[in-house]
Amino acid sequence: MEYPFEEIEKKWQNIWQERKVFEAEDLSKKPHYYVLSMFPYPSGTLHMGHVSNYSIADAIARFKLMQGYNVMQPMGYDSFGMPAENFAIQHNSHPRNSTDENIDIMKKQFQIMGFGFDWSRELSTCHPEYYRWGQWLFKRMYEKGLVYKKSSYVNWCDSCNTVLANEQVEDGRCWRCENPVRQKELEQWFFKITDYAEELLDFSKMIDWPERVISMQKNWIGKSFGTNIHFKLEIEQDILTVFTTRPDTIFGCTFMALPPEHPLVTRWLKQEPDNHSMKRFCERVINEDKIMRTAEDTTKEGIFSGRYAINPVNGEKVQIWITNYVLMDYGTGAVMAVPAHDQRDFEFAKKYDIPIKIVIQNQEKDLDLNKMKEAYIEPGILVNSAQFDEMNSEESKNIITLWMQENNMGEEAITYRLRDWGISRQRYWGTPIPVIYCEKCGTVLVPDEELPLKLPDNVKLGKTTGNPLLSVDEWINTTCPQCGGAARRETDTMDTFVDSSWYFARYTDPKNEEIPFARDKADYWLPVDQYIGGIEHACMHLLYARFFHKFMRDIGLANTDEPFARLLTQGMVTKDGAKMSKSKGNVVDPQYIIDRYGADTVRTFMLFASPPEKDVEWSDEGVKGAFRFLNRVWKLFEDNYELILENKLEIEKKKETRSEIKKLLFSTHSTIKKVIDDINRMQYNTAIAAIMEHLNNVYAIGDAKKLDPSEKAIYVESCLIIPQLLYPFAPHISEELWQRAGNSILIHEAGLIEYNQSYLVRDEVTYVVQIMGKIRGKLTVDTTTSEVEIKKLALDLENVKKYINNKKIKKIIVIPKKLVSIVI
Ligand SMILES: [Zn+2]
Ligand SMILES: [Zn+2]
Repeated sequence: MEYPFEEIEKKWQNIWQERKVFEAEDLSKKPHYYVLSMFPYPSGTLHMGHVSNYSIADAIARFKLMQGYNVMQPMGYDSFGMPAENFAIQHNSHPRNSTDENIDIMKKQFQIMGFGFDWSRELSTCHPEYYRWGQWLFKRMYEKGLVYKKSSYVNWCDSCNTVLANEQVEDGRCWRCENPVRQKELEQWFFKITDYAEELLDFSKMIDWPERVISMQKNWIGKSFGTNIHFKLEIEQDILTVFTTRPDTIFGCTFMALPPEHPLVTRWLKQEPDNHSMKRFCERVINEDKIMRTAEDTTKEGIFSGRYAINPVNGEKVQIWITNYVLMDYGTGAVMAVPAHDQRDFEFAKKYDIPIKIVIQNQEKDLDLNKMKEAYIEPGILVNSAQFDEMNSEESKNIITLWMQENNMGEEAITYRLRDWGISRQRYWGTPIPVIYCEKCGTVLVPDEELPLKLPDNVKLGKTTGNPLLSVDEWINTTCPQCGGAARRETDTMDTFVDSSWYFARYTDPKNEEIPFARDKADYWLPVDQYIGGIEHACMHLLYARFFHKFMRDIGLANTDEPFARLLTQGMVTKDGAKMSKSKGNVVDPQYIIDRYGADTVRTFMLFASPPEKDVEWSDEGVKGAFRFLNRVWKLFEDNYELILENKLEIEKKKETRSEIKKLLFSTHSTIKKVIDDINRMQYNTAIAAIMEHLNNVYAIGDAKKLDPSEKAIYVESCLIIPQLLYPFAPHISEELWQRAGNSILIHEAGLIEYNQSYLVRDEVTYVVQIMGKIRGKLTVDTTTSEVEIKKLALDLENVKKYINNKKIKKIIVIPKKLVSIVI
């Protein structure tokens, strides 16, 4: 017999909805708790990754609900983006239609899973009521000088036909379609996230973030301390500034390395239209992937520009090379090359026969140019460095920098790897950028009262090359808000990561039509107490959202420094050791499993299979095991409703009760303690294991009808804690059993169950073991140990065995809590 999961799951989903169990109350006096899972892209089907993610979040939410918190767990959709646009192109439809259909399907699946979402706060980023405030925030950023437009080389995906941020390029490929990314020069809108680089390195305001995510963000921001050194060009007037962390090697600089994207190179190419080899080299390298270009094992290549710079510290001429292994993205773009003390420079200098000059010697002073097989990168003693000779190289860094500062050759500098965030996308299905270009007035912002600037619906998708918005003349052509003259709209739309950078704040006040969200509500709910999502967002969404939050704080919308107090990066769902994916053909459809076993089984399996931050390996056997467990719980209640309903649960601890019953009492209270402790540490797998073990202990008692009245009370208590402890994981069956057990309130309304410490004391007692009146050993046992067991344990003592020595045992007398006396 299987328990009727279908019927009871539907029943409880309806009851929760009718009683608005998950609708959070703004500004309530109760303690509040904000649980948030990263909102999904509405792809149309729930996959196991979603199920796992939201099961974790829901367990937290329901547990906090039991603890009496005013819990908010909202849900919405990150609904702009390329898949919907591409789907519309293929099917000759409109992205809005497929997006709305997909949202309907997903929402139904969320409801079937019984997740406790506050649907009164539902939002979708492609709705004008939402993206209106993204446009409003863009304008406030623009006014603060945090938005600018510039021409630059950008990551370009030919397949997606759009720009990608650095964060969206993975191993030289598009993060979404895995097409190789190339470089293209374009006018782009940028957010000055670099203005916040320093503050983004401060992780002290978070309560609990995984160390791994913190270190990934630190590396991504990439702060380094060093020196800017100014080189004059030999002929031209320009100063070429380089950033270096090794000013101690300045006397060994024998060439300069510039990336082909460097503005000086662009100028030289224009000056020398006939220099075909330089032109060809630059074009080729610019189109190569940046990560591949700078990989250690990539062949270093370059071309001599025919120009020289002057090393300010010694006046030496330094060759300027255009190379593949430096990037505009780091420091000032130009690199001073010191081949003796940098491996990449060493390889390059060897290849192109550029002079190498040792300026740091090892302790033995036996470095020899003729014998050097690789660069010497360790600290050492300065040589060939004028007045700095014989100095320790580490100590000389500061001294040389100060000396250069005094002589206007350079100065101390800090640089970050983090670049500004390019947010322009040449696609239709995104938030329109609220900018108008007027010939007279230049760049003008769309006035606040004209927001939202809505996306036009009548766009021709796939029929034009480039941005589809270019095909909507009546939308592009507009009048200038300043002079009333003819003007054109910006056709770039925003990166969808802009939409997801502030949605967590909108949930606090999702229907506000005056401002993005009211300050009092934001102050009440933010920061998010527990955020849950994948580690792949470490340097994208999680960094962008922190930046946005700090900006929103700075314009007075919020009062906290961080958006997410605690972060959990959940593991993947794998099957046969690989992440579930269509391309690998190892996808299990959640709907099929829900239909067969019910939502509670899927949830229980997911949470039991491994701790939330670890990968879950899908197992059909595991799912069946979770289902069997829930059926056993169901059967336990079926067998005992009569007993449960007639017992008033007035349990008195009876000292003389039988050891099996004492063990059951201990199991009940130790399980409550363990499960609550484990849930607090988010160790759901061990919490569920403890409930399973307790269930076995209850079954071990056998037929409860034969127990005496006080034992029955203990037994009933041991049953009733099961739905209460299981509720965060398998809420439907728990509510049903709880109700059938005679409770009229919902489980969470009864509050968090408590354990009784006095039942956890496992008293021990030590017996003296005598043989023929002589002490032959000691035996320490639990007070609940039966006389039969005590006799057996006493006879098992090594020393006792030795003295009995196969003699016949006449009698064993046990004097409770004192003595075991053996007569042989
Ligand atoms: Zn792509
Ligand atoms: Zn104008």
